[in-house]
Amino acid sequence: MTAAAVLTAVNDPLEYREDVEVDGPKQGEIKVRIAASGVCHSDLSMQNGTMIPNPPMILGHEASAIVEDVGEGVTSVAAGDHIVVSFVADCGDCFFCLHDQAFLCEGANMGLIAGLLPDGTSRAHSQGADLSQMCGCGTFAETAIIAEINAVKIDKDVDLRVAALIGCGVLTGVGAALNTARISPGDTVAVVGCGGVGLNVIQGARIAGASEIVAVDLNDSKLEMTKKFGATRTINGGTEDAIAKIKDMTGDRGADVAFEVIGNQKTIDQTIEMTRRGGQSILVGVPPHDAVLNTPAFLGLVFQAKSIAGSWYGSSNVKRDVPKLLDLYDKGELLLEELISREIKLAEVNDAFAAMKTGEVARSVIVF
Ligand SMILES: [Zn+2]
Ligand SMILES: [Zn+2]
Repeated sequence: MTAAAVLTAVNDPLEYREDVEVDGPKQGEIKVRIAASGVCHSDLSMQNGTMIPNPPMILGHEASAIVEDVGEGVTSVAAGDHIVVSFVADCGDCFFCLHDQAFLCEGANMGLIAGLLPDGTSRAHSQGADLSQMCGCGTFAETAIIAEINAVKIDKDVDLRVAALIGCGVLTGVGAALNTARISPGDTVAVVGCGGVGLNVIQGARIAGASEIVAVDLNDSKLEMTKKFGATRTINGGTEDAIAKIKDMTGDRGADVAFEVIGNQKTIDQTIEMTRRGGQSILVGVPPHDAVLNTPAFLGLVFQAKSIAGSWYGSSNVKRDVPKLLDLYDKGELLLEELISREIKLAEVNDAFAAMKTGEVARSVIVF
């Protein structure tokens, strides 16, 4: 028996259950003991139906864990290994993995679509029903079966609390700056939206060598926090005209690279507008399904030779990028502890959801 936090219906609080049975790992699967799991906005989006859950479902997709057992054919990890759980798989042999775009890996699509393991079934059961596992992970649980291709082995001396954060927000944000964008030393970068992922875009831009990093948000306490991560200027978009200010700073040109990290129709348009001719607008935030771009094709884009790029999972190849990020953390360049606003127990996960709804800046982390 294992404890898990289960979504039984959209908008209901998660149910804390101690009666979850977990099968052994099948071919290509591993059994893990979760060490720590971040509580991310996407978990809330599953709970409130913004994303489409498959209840009853164990939520959680950003975690660190210790391998307990491995199924047939597993070669990349063994019992006792420490791992980061990556909700985007890296199978190594689908079209995208072979084209250096593992962030689009198709090896674990059943996880992303239905919260199931790659063979389309689940290994967790409770009260007479199979439980799906968000993204094929379901890390709000003491133990879980995940696919081997969702695990990235890490050194045993890495703090598992901070390692947990890497699997979602850090790869997404830092990756957007280091992988999706081409930031040159000396660039002026704008980051619109300074929540957990936005803070990581900011530190990614700092690591890439941007000399001005302009943080834009509506919340002054979030803006204050951005300075620790590398913002050199802050703009409260509610009381100041962000586009005019950024043009002022840059000889009327605009930012070399501007990131949208909210997923809001209006701020997407503003982000494209604040980008200079020849610059890059990088869209990171997840907008509602009906959001569209409102940019004039000729005068806004062609004549300005602007690039607009969508950034999914920070264009990360996890087997390359997880070790790289941990190395940056070791050198003191990547801040991770600073992203944790509090540590909680699994049974307190609904409190973390409540804190997110009030706009809390950084992460609650469940420590097992
Ligand atoms: Zn997430
Ligand atoms: Zn793949």
